[in-house]
Amino acid sequence: MPPKRTAKQRVTSADETPNKKPKIENASSDPLREPHHFAAEAEEHGIVLRKYYPPEMSNARAQAYNDNTLPRPIEQLEAALEETASARKDIQVGEAVIHWFKMDLRTTDNRALWEASQKAQEAGVPLICVYIVSPEDLEAHFTAPVRVDFMIRTLHALKADLVELDIPLYVETVAKRKDIPERIVDFMQEWGANHLYANIEYEVDELRREAKMVGLCAEKGLAMMPFHDTCIVAPGALHTGTGKQYAVYSPWFRAWVAHIHANPELLSPFDPPAKNPPDAREKVAALFDYEIPDVPENKRLSEEDAKRFGATWPAGEREAMDRLDKFCEEKIAQYGKKRNFPSEAATSSISVHLAAGTLCARTAVRTARDRNKTKKLDAGVEGIQAWISEVAWRDFYKHVLVHWPYICMNKPFKPEYSNIEWSYNSAHFEAWCQGRTGFPMVDAAMRQVQGIGWMHNRCRMVVASFLCKDLLLDWRMGERFFMENLIDGDFASNNGGWGFSASVGVDPQPYFRIFNPLLQSEKFDPDGDYIRKWIPELSGIKGKAIHDPYNRGAAAEAKKAGYPEPIANHKESRDRALKAYKAGIDGDKP
Ligand code: FAD
Repeated sequence: MPPKRTAKQRVTSADETPNKKPKIENASSDPLREPHHFAAEAEEHGIVLRKYYPPEMSNARAQAYNDNTLPRPIEQLEAALEETASARKDIQVGEAVIHWFKMDLRTTDNRALWEASQKAQEAGVPLICVYIVSPEDLEAHFTAPVRVDFMIRTLHALKADLVELDIPLYVETVAKRKDIPERIVDFMQEWGANHLYANIEYEVDELRREAKMVGLCAEKGLAMMPFHDTCIVAPGALHTGTGKQYAVYSPWFRAWVAHIHANPELLSPFDPPAKNPPDAREKVAALFDYEIPDVPENKRLSEEDAKRFGATWPAGEREAMDRLDKFCEEKIAQYGKKRNFPSEAATSSISVHLAAGTLCARTAVRTARDRNKTKKLDAGVEGIQAWISEVAWRDFYKHVLVHWPYICMNKPFKPEYSNIEWSYNSAHFEAWCQGRTGFPMVDAAMRQVQGIGWMHNRCRMVVASFLCKDLLLDWRMGERFFMENLIDGDFASNNGGWGFSASVGVDPQPYFRIFNPLLQSEKFDPDGDYIRKWIPELSGIKGKAIHDPYNRGAAAEAKKAGYPEPIANHKESRDRALKAYKAGIDGDKP
């Protein structure tokens, strides 16, 4: 149920006395609706996509979510489900049952798909699957072209798997995102289906859309049936001793492990859907004839890139399982020791499959657990424990997103960190994006993402810290760039990673933890193999000079090779960052 709202909202933040006047439209007399006072500048640099969203909210409005005076999107969905529960229960199965695929593009271990199949089977009617391509959503969410390409290739594989079960997968492009709910409802009515099954996505737009759809379906005598599936433990299920949501990973992780140990069925698999009845091919024949649309124009890769990414990242759930099995067979035991060294390729690289839903987190953890000597998630082989605890981070960040939804609206988890005066130096940002900062570890990582659409976790931390602490650039520019370029772009994990690196997120460490990019390079790429792989112009530089050629006696060589000089001095940048963070946080105090 949504929490009760007080008649008059209390506003206690610095928003009442902004030190800069917002120069953007939409300011209203409601103080909660006043944009944040740095919103205009951030907006100029692409932080809030005003085509789709309102200006950056005030800190007071973010606080209102924390005070339970604004309902969270998940609460709106829960309220819609509760209001329609009895009506939905009484709805008879129609001529078909529909599963709406989103980022759950697999047949195995897919909860809503399994539930839909059960419903269809009980009634002896066909199961129909649908997927909506929404170019506007892809634009609004900064989805990387490489990720869209992967998704379309996956749809082809999925369609082929479903056809073997006589289940059609109908894929349609809907130009306007606001039209999606009505289009789905029309589709249900066209095929006489009274039930729509789907797994829940936890981002704000998606939760609000689902809440609306539950009501819209109910008005027409139809039932929308959303399920928790993408997390192993559903968001909201874990509470501290005082009934609050966890905001710190370690105690949350202990609670997560204990919860799964107490409810082992959370790791049980869901079977693939059953084959459709024999007459399905006839009844829904037309749906088998549709082609899967091309990648929308706004997200199309060049032919060359499509070929390269296609070869690096084969799509589909079988590929996901192969990758997972191979990792568990060959690498998981050493994971704890090697995971931080990017040249080792010691991690699973299944993030691409978790993001597309070609693999389910439940499957990943169960597969790893079943290789252990124990059923306990926090015992046995050290590498397996370490890996499971990393997969848990993904659940954790989704739990955080659901409870603190304003992080999905360009606000930091700690709203007071909105008051830091970031730099928007475009030359610095360009150098960072292109991997030409003169810091080899940073540049290698940025070129890795250009090369394969993926970056090692240690390197993500290094480049993110460099962007916001060394260059003092607005962390949200980096967050956006990652979403626009990563094949595994996932809002919650990406935002969580940026929050960690910029010290604006749930991590309890204070902002004065600042990575030294040179020390990170020496520690995690000691022989410079990763750097040499991704920066070919430095491949001839020998020894430790590889970490900092201009200051370690290889300046002439680096210059000749066209490698840039460092764009920042770490010590000076560090001091500047410390001052800017302190001033921003102090400025927020009333
Ligand atoms: P493995 O080490 O094999 O771990 C297995 C799985 O555990 C991963 O696939 C992932 O699902 C999960 N996982 C591991 N580490 C983390 C973590 N720190 N946070 C959340 N989940 C984790 N991950 C994404 O999936 N999408 C993103 O958009 C994303 N953006 C990030 C941005 C920054 C700034 C940082 C610091 C981290 C980000 N991560 C993101 C987390 C992490 O870097 C990747 O999940 C990981 O590198 C994926 O590689 P892997 O599959 O080989 O991981």
